[in-house]
Amino acid sequence: MPETNRFLDYAPAPESTAILNLRESYGLFIDGEFSDGHGESFPIISPATEAKIAQIATADASDVDRAVAAARRAYSRTWTKLSGADRGKYLFRIARLVQERARELAVAESLDNGKPIKESRDVDVPLVAAWFFYYAGWADKLDYAGLGPNPRSLGVAAQVIPWNFPLLMLAWKIAPALAAGNTVVIKPAETTPLTALIFAEILQQADLPVGVVNIITGAGDTGSLLVNHPDVNKVAFTGSTAVGRAIARSTAGSGKKLTLELGGKAANIVFDDAPMDQAIEGIVNGIFFNQGHVCCAGSRLLVQENVKDEVVDRLKARLSTLRLGDPLDKNTDIGAINSRAQLERIRELSNIGEQEGAERWTADCEIPKNGFWFAPTIFTNVSTSHRIAREEVFGPVLSVLSFRTPAEAISKANNTPYGLSAGIWSSNGSRVLGVADKLRAGVVWINTFNQFDPASPFGGYKESGYGREGGRHGLAAYLTGAALESSGRGSSSAALTKGASK
Ligand code: NAP
Ligand code: MG
Repeated sequence: MPETNRFLDYAPAPESTAILNLRESYGLFIDGEFSDGHGESFPIISPATEAKIAQIATADASDVDRAVAAARRAYSRTWTKLSGADRGKYLFRIARLVQERARELAVAESLDNGKPIKESRDVDVPLVAAWFFYYAGWADKLDYAGLGPNPRSLGVAAQVIPWNFPLLMLAWKIAPALAAGNTVVIKPAETTPLTALIFAEILQQADLPVGVVNIITGAGDTGSLLVNHPDVNKVAFTGSTAVGRAIARSTAGSGKKLTLELGGKAANIVFDDAPMDQAIEGIVNGIFFNQGHVCCAGSRLLVQENVKDEVVDRLKARLSTLRLGDPLDKNTDIGAINSRAQLERIRELSNIGEQEGAERWTADCEIPKNGFWFAPTIFTNVSTSHRIAREEVFGPVLSVLSFRTPAEAISKANNTPYGLSAGIWSSNGSRVLGVADKLRAGVVWINTFNQFDPASPFGGYKESGYGREGGRHGLAAYLTGAALESSGRGSSSAALTKGASK
């Protein structure tokens, strides 16, 4: 750490884990209660200390059958019998319970995932509540959502989510599905099921009719059994492009409606007339938020050549002040990498970056002895053909490229198999609009980055998947006959394997 910071160092400010009421082991949440899984159970650990948190059940094929059957029964016997207004009441209740238990959920999320408590407390959990409140409001207004007359629910939704925003991704999946009148079987990621299991307790507290939401744990095999189950009507997946591609193939022709939220390699474009102080903060937020485990992370910085040196120098100075360490400490900026496997992937791609000739700079911070950590890293001298400029690192690693003209910025930004998000920093309004219009990305942020709102659709082009989550578009993905642009693959249309979704 630089000399000046030693004098200004913070005292430790750890959030207490006393609020958690953890069990030693967790079963599968099926038909409103926890039951044993028939697969082999596994431990989950804190990525910051490697200490065990709990033992988690694995759902095998018979458990997946049980969960889907529970969702099917609840669909035909209870959930579709309720009015939209009554479904909405349950969603409002869930939203309020999330708020009531916000601190507990934030602590559990930081413990299990490794993300800083200030992020789980101020970003993840408030957005989870916001998502439930937002879709609660839609439940009795589906006829007025602009999705055609009398839109109908699909049936049982099979949902599989990743480890980077465990509870938030659960909310993105469950809230619109229930608002639209579907029932759910969801599988959280193997390394981060804890908040989903606490959420199961919230569903019990909310008196949600049994079987409407079933939460099954396990690894990729359980996910595969779930999405390929013959009695599900809708598959919603967030995760890697490789697994998304496999799901697109295996569900093709099955009649299941499909949405895929996959990887990204976003360009964050900084023009020389950008508001520089904000841009520096925005670049940091864009790639170092959540340790860079963000599908829409601004992992490719495209900076106009005449300000490149200034931007890189200021970035290095800023990164030198970031505090890496205990995710539960309220002053921590950079938490732990979620798993050893992910840490190894980040290391491997970073080493390849050096071998390919890019110049590596790493913030000088103390790395804790246990756990999985990667210090904030910047690569300069990167060209568009380098693997660190093309592949998703999914870690705190920024690749810096430069451009001279807006046209060059656009062509470099679009030179990627992905198309999830992008950022533009400039104080020239017409330039911003002109460039934004030509970017092939689902979301374009202007003079900001990583902003999320439940009313705003989110999703990708090309290998970032298809379908939108959030807003009315997010409802369309869970209703029949609903036609909103890019609301996912219907029962008959093209697959990801063919390339761009539009
Ligand atoms: P992943 O390996 O694809 O896993 C995602 C989920 O799928 C996990 O629950 C996983 O279980 C499960 N899974 C694995 N193999 C499966 C299979 N064959 N069939 C069905 N399910 C299967 O992705 P990850 O590496 O955990 O997550 C990071 C990726 O997610 C990144 O590429 C990131 O960009 C993407 N992501 C995208 C968005 C978005 O909205 N576009 C948001 C967040 C993350 P296990 O956990 O047991 O492996
Ligand atoms: Mg995984």
